[in-house]
Amino acid sequence: MTNQMNQINNLTSDLQKNKRIAIIGGGPGGLTLALILQRHGIDSVIYERGFVESIANQGGTLDLHKDSGQLALKEAGLLEAFHKIARYEGEDLLLVDKYGTVYRKEVDDTGREGERPEIDREALCELLLNALDPQRIRFGYKFIEGIPQEDGKHELHFENGHVDTVDLVIGADGAFSKLRPLLTDASVEYSGLSMVELNIEDAVNQHPDLLSFNGRGSMIALSDNKGILAQLNGNGQIRVYLSFRADRDWVDTNGIPIDKPQVAKQEFLKLYDDWDEMLKNYIRYAGDRIVTRRIYMLPIGLTWKSRKGITLLGDAAHLMSPFMGEGVNLAMLDASVLALSLVQHDDFEEAIRSYEQRMYEYSSPLAEMSDDSLKRFFDDNGALQVSNWFKQMEQEQPEEG
Ligand SMILES: Cc1cc2nc3c(=O)[nH]c(=O)nc-3n(C[C@H](O)[C@H](O)[C@H](O)COP(=O)(O)OP(=O)(O)OC[C@H]3O[C@@H](n4cnc5c(N)ncnc54)[C@H](O)[C@@H]3O)c2cc1C
Repeated sequence: MTNQMNQINNLTSDLQKNKRIAIIGGGPGGLTLALILQRHGIDSVIYERGFVESIANQGGTLDLHKDSGQLALKEAGLLEAFHKIARYEGEDLLLVDKYGTVYRKEVDDTGREGERPEIDREALCELLLNALDPQRIRFGYKFIEGIPQEDGKHELHFENGHVDTVDLVIGADGAFSKLRPLLTDASVEYSGLSMVELNIEDAVNQHPDLLSFNGRGSMIALSDNKGILAQLNGNGQIRVYLSFRADRDWVDTNGIPIDKPQVAKQEFLKLYDDWDEMLKNYIRYAGDRIVTRRIYMLPIGLTWKSRKGITLLGDAAHLMSPFMGEGVNLAMLDASVLALSLVQHDDFEEAIRSYEQRMYEYSSPLAEMSDDSLKRFFDDNGALQVSNWFKQMEQEQPEEG
């Protein structure tokens, strides 16, 4: 009887291995998922709308947390490689108000490896891509529509005319997921916050005064419901986010000509007129590339009725404001939990249900915290609010040892 059961189980697993899995989106979440599946001998294909260069060029630095992003890298077999390129000094933090008054300064010169080292998004995607069998990712495939079939399969349509029918499709296609509407009517909402992204190229060599103020990690200046958020990237540039509470259409109606960077920068300086001169240097020193962004979020605690042959991960499942630095970590954790669930369950439906339950449990509280964090940052005295929050967290979580 046991032999017979084993035979049936083996047969089921073999069938499972022959099933087709498509992942829409080759961001950190989709790449991590494909990689962990690859390690377990499960075939999948990523359809990514961009090209390899566009994936690499999505800049910014990300801190990978030990219990989520790093855990997923371990499952992908890349933790050691990550440790070699991670920037532990990138965890340094300077928190000031508009006068430059310091509310918090964290500098670790001990050489100790902290729990949240930084990596540029470009370097992270490169690390994941280099380990992935190139057959498992197709670039230049923009997904436009998924049509559910009676047997739980999905027919996937792409802008270039390609059609594929798969047993399981996973939406890892970010904030504006085209797959999400097949599972829920919920859509992203504007968070009330808009950003202007600036870059200071080669800050390390060209602007030593600002570099010495900024330090090796992040600088956060908060006052009057506004912020200047800056991060030193691994390539020596400082990425800057001017952040404001603003109406949804502010980025379109503010009249600031971002295609004329010198004029636009003068206008941005006016928005920070009474801020410290060193803080205004983050605008003065910026290059010509200016990008405006609205910050969106999905309803906190979003769930959906589990359906055969389809699920979501990362921003597609739980887009949240970026002020807890959880987005990429959760996308990678989702990828790991989903991949292992697919490995452990013979039945896709069960695997998806189990993954979704766990994902809701760990992501909802973090979405709530990220929303609270946005409110704390963009307060009359955001620097004080954030500093108090750090102190509160420290009291609640006494250091180990
Ligand atoms: C300004 C800003 C700062 C941030 N800072 C941090 C931070 O410090 N720390 C942090 O953890 N997170 C941060 N985040 C959030 C983080 O970037 C995201 O949470 C994370 O990238 C989500 O990963 P993902 O794989 O789910 O989606 P994404 O990274 O968005 O990847 C989605 C992929 O899907 C592709 N795609 C989209 N639509 C289609 C389609 N129709 N067909 C095919 N492919 C498609 C895209 O090209 C992309 O490659 C920040 C976000 C913003 C906006």
